[in-house]
Amino acid sequence: MEKLWIADEAAAVMDALSRAGIRSWVVGGCVRDMLRGKTPHDWDIAAAAAPQEMETALSAFRLLETGIRHGTVTALVNGSPVEVTACRGEGEYRDMRHPESVTFHCSLEEDLARRDFTMNALAYRPSDGLIDLYDGVRDIETGVIRCIRRPEDRFREDALRILRALRFSAQLGYRIEEETGAAIHALAGNLRVISAERCAAEFCKLILGAYAAEVLQEYGDVIAVILPVIAPMRGFYHREEHGGALWRHSVVPLAFAPENLAVRLALVLRDCAKPVTQLCGDDYPGHAERGAELVREALRRLKLPSALIGRTAELVRFHSALPDANRSAILRALNVLGEETLLELMDMREADRLSHGEDTADIARLREKTKELTACGACWQLSQLAVSGDDVKALGYSGREIGQTLQRLLDAVMDGRCENTHAALEAWLSTKN
Ligand code: ATP
Ligand code: MG
Repeated sequence: MEKLWIADEAAAVMDALSRAGIRSWVVGGCVRDMLRGKTPHDWDIAAAAAPQEMETALSAFRLLETGIRHGTVTALVNGSPVEVTACRGEGEYRDMRHPESVTFHCSLEEDLARRDFTMNALAYRPSDGLIDLYDGVRDIETGVIRCIRRPEDRFREDALRILRALRFSAQLGYRIEEETGAAIHALAGNLRVISAERCAAEFCKLILGAYAAEVLQEYGDVIAVILPVIAPMRGFYHREEHGGALWRHSVVPLAFAPENLAVRLALVLRDCAKPVTQLCGDDYPGHAERGAELVREALRRLKLPSALIGRTAELVRFHSALPDANRSAILRALNVLGEETLLELMDMREADRLSHGEDTADIARLREKTKELTACGACWQLSQLAVSGDDVKALGYSGREIGQTLQRLLDAVMDGRCENTHAALEAWLSTKN
């Protein structure tokens, strides 16, 4: 019998349950991850007991009871949360309407049957070994995402599973089994009833996945349900790159992008306004600015955090605006964009170039030069200028002239026309008047 490693905190919870005569198993994603040779990032335990019995058995731990109505408590063991759920089947919902007569179905089989995919329906306990009622091990070994029972029924029960299938495929590189895939395409519209927050959480995990490009390409119809802004991109053809298909051109660079959510969202959405700004041929006047507006709207609908929305829209707006690798151009770009955004724009351009098999040495040089400049304290913002508004005022400037003069001084410093010292700036000003 195969022995699997279980983290101390999960083992401590299982021991406590066992001392109270309650059988328990580690279940779900953590078993899947152990079998994949990955350390699980959280531990879920199913216990064959009613919630109150479970709570009593775990009273030695600090317990968070937020999910107790659904039969879940979270035990904090040395600071790590371990989620413990009373085994439950579909009957639970009926029973929960009559709290006086709660009878949780204490069968592991029923608990596993309500889970989403075969790879997520595994249970393990050291004395019994692995419990694999749906051939989840085989599917992990061959890299397949397959619904338990009839996919259409399972997606009708809970449409979020549609997005979960896509995000697991994007994270793990597993292929989605045919029937499951067909049901996903057929029932994608049901995602409209799922809250924006839950869709967004899965979509963000999806787009950060190592295999996101493939999944977005194959399931663009599904993504268009939660992000309608991409719908016009899907049938749109532009230049010859990537066969001319705009959607493909938008997602393929993801395979070369860093794990940065704003960069990845901006890459996928950067050309979303091309279909609505096309004049003739390859002319799309203002597509970056219009794209930034559309992206803002689209991500607001998904209720993403406003800081992330702002950063993504900024990247879309400036996605074709990389400076030349000379000092003055870089400093001016830093002035407009800030260091973080400028470096992220380089990541985007690099991913795009790599997706075409093109050389990126010039971007590497630009990145290096930019980092050199910021590290050595080069001046690219007013706060770094060696003279202040008060200094300029003391020289006889007043009102709006003060700000304009500071800007002229900053421009002169960024262009290398004047050194950034008090004396040099003052001297420069006197020669200019
Ligand atoms: P992750 O590594 O992202 O945590 P996970 O598989 O652990 O992946 P969770 O959302 O933590 O995902 O869910 C834990 C387990 O609960 C899943 O493995 C699955 O068995 C079950 N589960 C979660 N959401 C659903 C759902 N919508 N429908 C059915 N079962 C679900
Ligand atoms: Mg989990």
